[in-house]
Amino acid sequence: MAGTIAVVGSSNIDLVMKMSRLPRAGETVTDAAFVQAFGGKGANQAVGAARAGGDVVFVACVGDDAYGGQVVANLEADGIDTRFVFTEAGVASGTALIMVDGEGQNCISVAPGANYRLTPAHVDRARDALERAAIIGVQCEISPETLDHVIALGAELGTPVLLNLAPARRMSDASLARLACLAVNETEAEFLTGLKVASGRDVEAAADALLARGPKTVVLTLGARGAYLASASGSALVPGFAVEAVDTTAAGDVHCGALAVALVEGRPLEEAVRFANAASALSVTKLGAQPSAPRRRDIEALLSNR
Ligand code: ADP
Repeated sequence: MAGTIAVVGSSNIDLVMKMSRLPRAGETVTDAAFVQAFGGKGANQAVGAARAGGDVVFVACVGDDAYGGQVVANLEADGIDTRFVFTEAGVASGTALIMVDGEGQNCISVAPGANYRLTPAHVDRARDALERAAIIGVQCEISPETLDHVIALGAELGTPVLLNLAPARRMSDASLARLACLAVNETEAEFLTGLKVASGRDVEAAADALLARGPKTVVLTLGARGAYLASASGSALVPGFAVEAVDTTAAGDVHCGALAVALVEGRPLEEAVRFANAASALSVTKLGAQPSAPRRRDIEALLSNR
């Protein structure tokens, strides 16, 4: 049996308005259709990992509002251990207001709320679970102080840390050097390296520059093209799976969750990235963040079809 995956991070309620065109400042549009969905990079990765076959424990904070309990119930429906999802008094759960127009263009405003109340002290309460875990997954929708603490604690406990540097944020070389795996998309790679990432050669140069900052492995996701993998033992482009893309929301999150599952199962790096490419390709064929995360049997079916 593979080890546990501990995900430390955010959860959001996504309040989505779909409309023919986005309003200008000061304007009201009245043709919207409303959908509420569960999101947040941490929760998306936890759900992505659980559906891909992982045994997942989630460490996070929700508010004591009506949404907090819904977030927990939703995670539990996917079999995720929520013992370390803390409810903070007097704060709203993380919320994202998302407006999407007919062409799929969007405007998003995120209120981190309880996500920024997750402190190093909360993380320490999950110390035993983090020590027992086979991998820790973390992203950048929690406070910088807590993120650095998670990475340092992982190093202290000897549990490998997979950081998805999303949304992009400055990171100290000390934290980057402690990572087992750094996962970024092209925009995040450009932010961290200052290099333009367009051609295949740019991708190699950016991945090398990221590897030079100290993580053992770099996974640079490239949308439909797949992902570029770089480590001391070599680098490779792991091609994506051709699918009909409907909505790419959370593709990167599903990729990280599935990658964590494949890594704790002991798959070789390239095979692990292929598994993650298959999971995230399936996720872009469906609308929404968490609703689009595929199940293990569908990932296996796509892998065995090719
Ligand atoms: P993010 O969602 O963080 O911007 P990417 O767009 O790079 O990240 O997508 C993450 C992964 O999802 C890619 O590495 C790829 O495997 C898969 N993916 C994304 N878009 C597509 C697509 N149109 N077709 C197939 N796979 C895709």
